[in-house]
Amino acid sequence: MKTVSSLLDEHWYERYKRISKLNIRSSIYDITNRCNLRCKGCFFYSSGEDQVASEETDLNKWAEFVDKEKERGVNLAILIGGEPTLCLDRVETFYNRVPSFCASNGLIKVPRDRFPDMMVGISLWGDEQDEKTLRGMDTFAVSSKNYEGDPYVYYLYTITPNQIGKTERIIRKIRDVGLKVHMQLLSNDEGVDGFSWTPEQLRDVREEMDHMLDKYPDTLISSKYYHEVITSGKMLGRSFGWEECPSVTESFDTRDPKPKRLIHFIRWASDLETMHRCCTSASRDCSICKDGAAHMSWVMVNKRAHMRSEKDLQNWIEVYEMFAKLYQFIPW
Ligand code: SF4
Ligand code: SF4
Repeated sequence: MKTVSSLLDEHWYERYKRISKLNIRSSIYDITNRCNLRCKGCFFYSSGEDQVASEETDLNKWAEFVDKEKERGVNLAILIGGEPTLCLDRVETFYNRVPSFCASNGLIKVPRDRFPDMMVGISLWGDEQDEKTLRGMDTFAVSSKNYEGDPYVYYLYTITPNQIGKTERIIRKIRDVGLKVHMQLLSNDEGVDGFSWTPEQLRDVREEMDHMLDKYPDTLISSKYYHEVITSGKMLGRSFGWEECPSVTESFDTRDPKPKRLIHFIRWASDLETMHRCCTSASRDCSICKDGAAHMSWVMVNKRAHMRSEKDLQNWIEVYEMFAKLYQFIPW
């Protein structure tokens, strides 16, 4: 039988040991249904997830809820929305109790006196023109001023087909303001013309992502195996989709047989009672889903399948490390 230590040399085994202790248990929380933008293709609004629950406004209830989540074993709270920075008191109930990550559009600065080391991931959907087309404004102009040089911030750059050939300029802009960047792909939930992927574009974008990682290894938090999996939707010959997705809320998971999945994962709505189907749009067709975190998690929960060769296991380690860096479990 192949074991981890028999597959890896000393250097890779050390890397493996560093992440194998982490035992990350994440869940996702809608902090609010409101946002100060309305992006075309936002999964939250396009799937009507803002309508399914009314926000809990009592902070004591938020605090009790977070305590219960902690008891459930959650050690990574991923705060989304809507725009979480519109409700910093609610964000604080998490931050004071459990390791927390805040996804934001970056227009409102998280005050560092209140949240000194909270990791913030800022959404970016392309260059100035694409941002104006899809989000109504050039958010980078504001978010980069808010967070320049902040060691606990990275850009979550959603690449659209329009960005092929243009990503380098954006990555340099991010590097030049002293921040990191992680890339994912748009799923185009609202069918905006020209923003759906063709197979050729997916091949091209993979090549470009690989090239950018070679050229900007200190700025990009990524891995070539992640690029392969997210652009092809394939892992070890298996296809991503509903049957394989690891990021399905536990109570929605009626699949039989059950695939490997995130243990006790739930995505909670802002009433603290309602649950959403998965980590992203409740109405998305799984066969076109490009969700970056779901693809990363897909790799991570399938360690045993990657123990068929040294290279496969190294690929698995790199993806796990990438995830651990993005959520601050290990340093950049
Ligand atoms: S900023 Fe985020 S939550 Fe707000 S509309 Fe855009 S994608 Fe949706
Ligand atoms: S939409 Fe994506 S993340 Fe959600 S269940 Fe389907 S494949 Fe998984």
